[in-house]
Amino acid sequence: MTSKPKILLIYTGGTIGMVKDYKTNALKAFDFNHLHAQIPELNLLHCQIETLSFKEPIDSSNMNIDNWVKIVNCIEENYEDHDGFVILTGSDTMAYTASALSFMIENLNKPVIFTGSQLPIGDLRTDAKENLITAIQIASARTDKDEPEITEVSLYFEYKLYRANRTTKVNAEQFEAFNSLNYPPIAESGVHLKFNRAFLFRPTPNEPVKFHKELDNRIAVLKLFPGITKEVVEAILTIKDLQGVVLETYGSGNAPTEPWFLDLLKKALDKGIHIADVTQCIGGSVILGQYETSVAMQNMGLINGKDITTESALAKMMYLLGKKLDKKRFKSVFETSLRGELQ
Ligand code: ASP
Repeated sequence: MTSKPKILLIYTGGTIGMVKDYKTNALKAFDFNHLHAQIPELNLLHCQIETLSFKEPIDSSNMNIDNWVKIVNCIEENYEDHDGFVILTGSDTMAYTASALSFMIENLNKPVIFTGSQLPIGDLRTDAKENLITAIQIASARTDKDEPEITEVSLYFEYKLYRANRTTKVNAEQFEAFNSLNYPPIAESGVHLKFNRAFLFRPTPNEPVKFHKELDNRIAVLKLFPGITKEVVEAILTIKDLQGVVLETYGSGNAPTEPWFLDLLKKALDKGIHIADVTQCIGGSVILGQYETSVAMQNMGLINGKDITTESALAKMMYLLGKKLDKKRFKSVFETSLRGELQ
């Protein structure tokens, strides 16, 4: 590439886009059209930066599937003209949004990097500048063969780049807010930017990029806890029009063996509801049949979520429901890695 890589920065909202008004002490939105004036360091990067901002930036607690489609549309409309994308969102639901985007864009051959911050960009001790500058630098990074280093949806926070659909927000106040226990960082920023090349996701050669926007959110997450009652489980599994459930089980995929619980699961499965067994642990994997407490669920045909995160399982379920697959195919596709989200 002779010219500088062209990066599109999309601001959807969140702390990163705030500055403190030191007179009033209040946080107010930062004008992304004046990005270079606010962060002159960006002029030192070897890239051209264009910015695009949601008309009404949102706190990421208000993120929903319409906003996911909106972000995908921004990427699709600008895909040919740009070499990389940096998406700024609040960190609270970033792992969900970034996981969803990883399914919604198939055969991605350019970097899409999510980042945000714990402190506003205008704060003296902010983590926003480093996160933003390095995310843009990674989005512009090219190999010796002049190909993009990153060709997957990823998440950059506090010196580490992760595969997005492997992340979870693990801390509400430390700068190191995210972790990915089942997959190593795909790049690390120290004195040098180091790419963990053996762990990068690559698109299928000669297949064009595809944008998927049909998501079905008629799903629920059912988190088990000791003492959970029949009423609670029944209320969730009999929700009208429910299509899928992410069942957050214990340890390696274990759940109560009481007949009322197993009967309710069986009835829901018979009604055609897809149920995926996902562990509540932030690391490790579901291993159906390892303990007696998962054998009945395995025999019933529950989907094995393996080492997927809840965030990713939920996004994958909405994505696959949008594909209207039959029951057998749904289970087998769910259990197969589509974007490196499970082993
Ligand atoms: N509440 C904010 C949000 O998620 C926190 C952040 O930006 O990190 O939008």
